[in-house]
Amino acid sequence: MTPFRRLRQERLAAERGTLFAQAELAVALVYPSPYHVGMSSLGFQTIYRVLNALPGVAAERAFLPDDVTAARRAREILATYESQRPVADFPIVAFSLAYELELAGLVHCLDLAGIPALAAERDAGDRRWPLVVVGGPLTFGNPLPAGPMADVIVMGEAEDAAPTLVRAFRAAGDKRALLETLAATPGCYVPSLHGARLPGVLAASDAHVPAYSQIVTRQTELGDMFLVEAARGCSRTCDYCVMRRSSWEPSKGSQALPHSGSAGQSPATPTRSPSGGMRKVEPERILARIPEHARRVGLVGAAVSDHPRLPEILSALVASGRGVGVSSLRPDRLDDEVVSLLARGGYRTLTVAADGASQRLRDQVRRGTSEEDLLGAARLCRTHGMAALKVYTLLGLPGETMADVEDLLRLASELSAIAPRLVLAVAPFVAKRNTPLAGSPFEDIARLEERLGRLRVGLRGRAKIMGDPPKWGWIEYRLAQGGLAEGRAVVQAARAGGGFAAWRRALASDQARSVLET
Ligand code: SF4
Repeated sequence: MTPFRRLRQERLAAERGTLFAQAELAVALVYPSPYHVGMSSLGFQTIYRVLNALPGVAAERAFLPDDVTAARRAREILATYESQRPVADFPIVAFSLAYELELAGLVHCLDLAGIPALAAERDAGDRRWPLVVVGGPLTFGNPLPAGPMADVIVMGEAEDAAPTLVRAFRAAGDKRALLETLAATPGCYVPSLHGARLPGVLAASDAHVPAYSQIVTRQTELGDMFLVEAARGCSRTCDYCVMRRSSWEPSKGSQALPHSGSAGQSPATPTRSPSGGMRKVEPERILARIPEHARRVGLVGAAVSDHPRLPEILSALVASGRGVGVSSLRPDRLDDEVVSLLARGGYRTLTVAADGASQRLRDQVRRGTSEEDLLGAARLCRTHGMAALKVYTLLGLPGETMADVEDLLRLASELSAIAPRLVLAVAPFVAKRNTPLAGSPFEDIARLEERLGRLRVGLRGRAKIMGDPPKWGWIEYRLAQGGLAEGRAVVQAARAGGGFAAWRRALASDQARSVLET
């Protein structure tokens, strides 16, 4: 038995909630990051359950190996966890992509599965290859670079589209007919037929909200936490964010498929925010989803703290003796009640976002977070005995100068004097399509490094600075703004080892000269 197979079996044995099924149609669901990341994805777990609930369908999971280089060297065949079958044996192979740099993982997974990475290569020979489907959060922004690898890309929330796709697969005589049917289906982007024209994103029917964990295991980034959606979407309008209200709201260009009713979910309806964009789930429905055995519960959503009944939900969880986690806290929504409940639920690092070096920049991108909100979060963190305050922020927003960075330095110094410990998580600003800042340039890498260096020196001994080197932000930017040519460059970069130099060479090659093919 190879070490890769042994690891899969050990992880499988540690899971609770795994679905084992045999059916006439098998789907391999592949996450292009390692297991501990993929199993923390609520969307991935939801599609796993939705597919397995369809009559005659069995879905199994596969993940990018933890050590891709070792797997490539050992010529390890990518296989699923449930049956240990090679992924290439499945008629449908579906990927969930969360963000741009996972595109390299998509190429690695296809290579390790022995499936030609480019759709055009799969169509060229006589062999019948699996249908390669791509979905996931990346499709809210710009999935074009996944186009060369995908036969079809499902845009947006895929819960209702998954059964539609399965029905089309069963009905189609051949691949050509299938792709033509899918190309005429709302929310399905077929690169070989649509070129670079993307359809609007899908919104799943309310019956699929809240999403919740199918499998709980200690071996994820979040430990053995049971995840349940408290809200879907966001009613705010931060100019840089693909989850902002007007990027995806059904009434503004996205489309909803009729709900198939096949996932066995209750038809109760979550409430939509009067300001639009956010679907809030009633506390009773959230609590009803939590199994008796779950000792820690994570509330998931783009803006969970905007849920008006969050204190009620947290109170019930804490009263039941459970630990709690929340995926997104807005500092302007924090108060004594919420933070004290979080502390009683074992939440130790109060995590908020500033997303702008200065108030001027936060106002410019309509972040809606003030300096006083952040100072208030630091005070609440101290008052309720939390271990640390973690603040996410962006560097390199349009028009940023060193004066803005000095402003961040001053504010971070003040925060560090209040909070027991300060962690500043800094990410370079990457303009995303489908947002008002789409098309904004990426800041010069050397300038970003200089600004990061200034923060490191200025906050030495007072704050921990976290964040990937800005050069990776530049690659993310090229992919976020790029088209099909950049997708072909991903294949080249991944196979050349995936280091920065490999990416730069691939993105500079003839294949990737074009930016924005639409
Ligand atoms: S509050 Fe968060 S999720 Fe909502 S638009 Fe702003 S950044 Fe996006």
